[in-house]
Amino acid sequence: MKREPAFIYSDAYTDYQFNADHPFNQQRVVMTKELLEAEGKLFDHHIVHPRVASVEELALVHDRQYIEAVKRAGNGQLSEEDAWQYGLGTEDTPMFSGMHEAASLLVGGTLTAIDSVLNNKAPQALNLGGGLHHGFKRKASGFCVYNDAAVAIKYIRDRYRLRVLYVDTDAHHGDGVQSFFYHDPEVCTLSIHETGRYLFPGTGSISERGVKEGYGYTFNLPIDAFTEDDSFLSVYESAFKEITEYFQPDIIITQNGADSHCYDPLTHLCTTTKTFESIPMVARKIAEQYCEGRWVGLGGGGYDIWRVVPRAWSQIWSVMLTGNILTGPLPVEWKRKWEVNSPVSLPESWQDGGGLYKPIPRKPEITEKNQLTLNQCLQYCRNKRQFSSLE
Ligand SMILES: [Zn+2]
Repeated sequence: MKREPAFIYSDAYTDYQFNADHPFNQQRVVMTKELLEAEGKLFDHHIVHPRVASVEELALVHDRQYIEAVKRAGNGQLSEEDAWQYGLGTEDTPMFSGMHEAASLLVGGTLTAIDSVLNNKAPQALNLGGGLHHGFKRKASGFCVYNDAAVAIKYIRDRYRLRVLYVDTDAHHGDGVQSFFYHDPEVCTLSIHETGRYLFPGTGSISERGVKEGYGYTFNLPIDAFTEDDSFLSVYESAFKEITEYFQPDIIITQNGADSHCYDPLTHLCTTTKTFESIPMVARKIAEQYCEGRWVGLGGGGYDIWRVVPRAWSQIWSVMLTGNILTGPLPVEWKRKWEVNSPVSLPESWQDGGGLYKPIPRKPEITEKNQLTLNQCLQYCRNKRQFSSLE
């Protein structure tokens, strides 16, 4: 029987909810799943239920005191003062009932995805509930409590001893994941994000390259505000290819935040559906070329949950399943169900038409600047490869 990818999913993913008005809304995962079902691309046999990550697993990267604090926060037993030192109870990352359990399930989903692929049950796996890249060792940040990607990478290192390439295309810098592996030459991270000049978390400059043995295994590609599809994709594909060639990973993990779209309310990038079609196509091709197809995809940010995220994330699954993107009109029954609640009119088709935003006057300068940033970002691995070829 042909092996098919695994779609990690639970209705309980929506329990990870800070409050009714919070921009981080896991209803996006439900909408994506239903869109794929309506399109006839996702069936029950693809769906794998996530396990819950144990405290031992969370403690692979998180401080036990922090885990205890999250548990207490979820039971209403953490004082505001104590919460503050753990980054909890802030406007971004408020405390909510059951937050430890809800966050542990998202991490467990990413571990389930990893095991599906590394135990050869599935060629690729997708956990759209995960991708919470801002979680730190003892601190919640930017809507992220536990860092599922970091737990999963440490789990792969401990259990499977494989080399991991982590590629993060969220509009925000993947600061949490980077922080856990900054010393580690067996884990390579690449984050492409809007420059931190005007955007949270402010880090992710080219000069952050890792330390000690890990020097040269952290890559940051901060792109300009108002970057459009062509420039985004050009630097993404070049960086991904060259870094994979340089690092030679055994498995690739992608974080697929969908907040670089021009409709996204929290960022200033200007991509369209075109970017979200190419991102997984490139990931699949590179995974096939370098790691026998082993690829785990995660979700991430994405705050236009109506017009952007379900279409963007569905394309990752479509590429995993078929190698192709979805085109044409969106399924009518899906639109009919969700348009009742949507504050904006839902798109008609998988692809954005033209005219989504006003032409960007500085386009040539932005493109040139991003190309320069790419060259600086890759300089280290280019030099190193040149050097090793002379040896
Ligand atoms: Zn983001």
